[in-house]
Amino acid sequence: MENRMRLEFNAVSVNEGFARVAVSAFFAQLNPTLDEIEDVKTAVSEAVTNSIIHGYGEKEGTVIVSCTYHGNDSEVVVMDSGVGIADIEKSMEPFFTTKPELERSGMGFAFMEAFMDEVEVESEPFKGTKVTMKKRFGERKLEE
Ligand code: ATP
Ligand code: MG
Repeated sequence: MENRMRLEFNAVSVNEGFARVAVSAFFAQLNPTLDEIEDVKTAVSEAVTNSIIHGYGEKEGTVIVSCTYHGNDSEVVVMDSGVGIADIEKSMEPFFTTKPELERSGMGFAFMEAFMDEVEVESEPFKGTKVTMKKRFGERKLEE
């Protein structure tokens, strides 16, 4: 079965929890394991937090989260129209952060990559950032 949803919300940190819960509720239809749903929630949190903190900072803005699934293949897209990323490759390296003063550890992209099967980042300075993440559910190991 195929399904799709799209959320649009203000770039404020109280909405991080909302995005996590909404995304997990949407994918509940696929009967994910607890581990699978935790992985997706963590990845969504990291991407949404990045849009709010780095994309917009103190400025007002809108974050868009869209989710689709086709059978057991899921896709989550998190988008902002914030400051964008100049060097995507560098920003995705573990421990790289432009906000060490905010006690950021620079592990957000590393977590997204660890918890999802695929992570793609498109970004342009002063235009915004789009993070596309894919995960296939139901890849339980036979011995489990
Ligand atoms: P942590 O996620 O561990 O709190 P972090 O957010 O700095 O720290 P990452 O999530 O890996 O680490 O992001 C690395 C860097 O990429 C950020 O410091 C920031 O410079 C840049 N970045 C990430 N997402 C965005 C975004 N949506 N808009 C602008 N810059 C971003
Ligand atoms: Mg981060």
